Amino acid sequence: MTSSQNDRERVSTNIIVENQFETAANLIGLDPSMQLLLKTPFRTVSVEVAIRMDDGRLEVFNGYRVQHNGARGPCKGGVRYHPEADEQEIIGLATTMTWKTALLDIPFGGAKGGVQVKARDLSKRELEAITRQFTRRIALLLGPYRDIPAPDMNTNQQTMAWMLDEYSAKYGYTPAAVTGKPVALGGSLGREEATGRGVMLIMKNYSRDFGIPIKDARVVIQGFGNVGAHLALFLHELGAKIVAASDVYGGLHNEDGLDIPALFEHTYKQHKPVAEFDGGDKLINPDDVIWNIPCEWLVPAALGSVITKEKNANTIDCKVVVEAANSPITPIGDKILEARNIQVLPDFLVNAGGVVVSYFEWTQNLQQEPWTLEQVNSGLERKMNTAYEVVRDLADDKGVPWRTAALAIALQRVADAEALRGGR
Ligand code: GLU
Repeated sequence: MTSSQNDRERVSTNIIVENQFETAANLIGLDPSMQLLLKTPFRTVSVEVAIRMDDGRLEVFNGYRVQHNGARGPCKGGVRYHPEADEQEIIGLATTMTWKTALLDIPFGGAKGGVQVKARDLSKRELEAITRQFTRRIALLLGPYRDIPAPDMNTNQQTMAWMLDEYSAKYGYTPAAVTGKPVALGGSLGREEATGRGVMLIMKNYSRDFGIPIKDARVVIQGFGNVGAHLALFLHELGAKIVAASDVYGGLHNEDGLDIPALFEHTYKQHKPVAEFDGGDKLINPDDVIWNIPCEWLVPAALGSVITKEKNANTIDCKVVVEAANSPITPIGDKILEARNIQVLPDFLVNAGGVVVSYFEWTQNLQQEPWTLEQVNSGLERKMNTAYEVVRDLADDKGVPWRTAALAIALQRVADAEALRGGR
């Protein structure tokens, strides 16, 4: 860990998310009691995940599942394995899922889960044991019409296969109980790359409307996991130059553009660190320097709270920040970027492609009717384009930042559903 990671002034996702709420709520004149209702998570569950490690020791980890709001449909959201995935972090991420599903107009509410663990130190057997026990502990909250988990940071198709197996052992075969599954277990074609594809689609729309090209443009991607790596591939296909990329181990810089198909093979397929790829200059202290590399499009695609006043908001040198990660910018960082006229495309619009295709997966499972890749991709494109257009138009109409516009739309939809349900 570099020194800058130690003191990177981390602001919890929940604080970031809460901070954005009021401006949007005021824009639509949301009454105070509805504001209170929409701010408060519906259910927050904390569980003990105690497993036997490979060396025989017993370890106990904290696990969480937060269901933020279910007015528009079953709660939906990923499960992440990360030391920073504490209760406040998961509440913030669950809240973001409520706004994301509402903005994309898919019939879900918002949830998130997590286990506070350093996943990359664990063996496959340990990961499986954690996943199975975590699933057993929260199984009574789950179900295709209650709450549907999916992958997130440091979890993947295999994690979902284990979750499905545990859930089905208890309740019978229920493929719609989890999304992001392997295709062989009822997963959807196109789900794995859906978040990256969705980010690319939002960038393409913005590029067309605001005259910032993608072809030959310089792109910096911080985070090269599922989202960053797939996005890099899509942008490369559109002719962009990915001039820098980084992961938790290090980073690479190449002004002529990195060889993305080869880097994808190296990282995503062979599971090797970005910096071990031959084809660019290694970044020393990537967490500090990657932010100052000049580019047109800057894409944080990893953890939250990485663009801050203290660190880089005053110095980053780009035209657009594309929030592929959740809550990558602190509230003060956001204000600085706004004052500097750097456009920010907000997380719950930009990275919604994953949950959109999760929705397609869920419907395929309920109907036992698989879709073609073409159906999935064209459905995703339609959903992303529509959400993009409503946000663009409201931001333009009201003269507010895109984040405020996006949140206002989402809040109104959830508030309408809550009001219609009544009962309070
Ligand atoms: N973890 C992804 C997200 O944050 C996907 C969630 C899902 O597919 O339910 O949007």
